[in-house]
Amino acid sequence: MIGYYMIFGVIALISYLVSNNLEKKMQKYGQVRVQQSGKEVAEQMLRENGITDVSVLSTEGSLTDHYDPMKKTVNLSTPVFGQRTVAAIAVAAHECGHAVQHATAYSPLRLRSALVPAVNISNKFTPWILTIGILLLEVTPYLLGVGIVLFAITSLFSLITLPVEINASKRAVQWLDKAGIVDAQTKPMAVDALKSAAYTYVVAALASLATLVQYLLIFMRSRR
Ligand SMILES: [Zn+2]
Repeated sequence: MIGYYMIFGVIALISYLVSNNLEKKMQKYGQVRVQQSGKEVAEQMLRENGITDVSVLSTEGSLTDHYDPMKKTVNLSTPVFGQRTVAAIAVAAHECGHAVQHATAYSPLRLRSALVPAVNISNKFTPWILTIGILLLEVTPYLLGVGIVLFAITSLFSLITLPVEINASKRAVQWLDKAGIVDAQTKPMAVDALKSAAYTYVVAALASLATLVQYLLIFMRSRR
């Protein structure tokens, strides 16, 4: 068990370093000027991909950028929406990458979207079920078992998120390159910024899997 807590310590440390790195990269590439703003790039990318029913909106906060498949909106945080920097256009194009995935029925995205309702319910109840399940372990193993199955849905979700995110970034960079929005100098910067963002999803998936394994170990130990 001590070894296990060490794994969580290491994951927490990596998670801190990864988000720190992302912040630094966004700051750095947020200084490099380009011709278009995030909004302009997003609108052009959607248009050139034949997407006419998705609107580009500005949303409050930073790092709040996301694509909403229900409302069909690309939501860009205020700096990404308005600024003409490598960081802004990279994030804007990435979110449009999700819109393109949606328009072309990219299957990992469909699977991920299908899991959203289950994950929302699971997130609400699973911590309680797991806690009470562990407390009642002497009486019955079933509640913990149910909690583990529910938690596995969340872990699966975080794993499916990885190809979805990596693919959106790939589409973003390919299009930025093809449309001539990035050049030999700014393309590696856009790639680097998006890679830094992808690492945060990798760490989240790892943390989720480690937690799942921890509950499985508790469950199995009680069965002996
Ligand atoms: Zn994304």
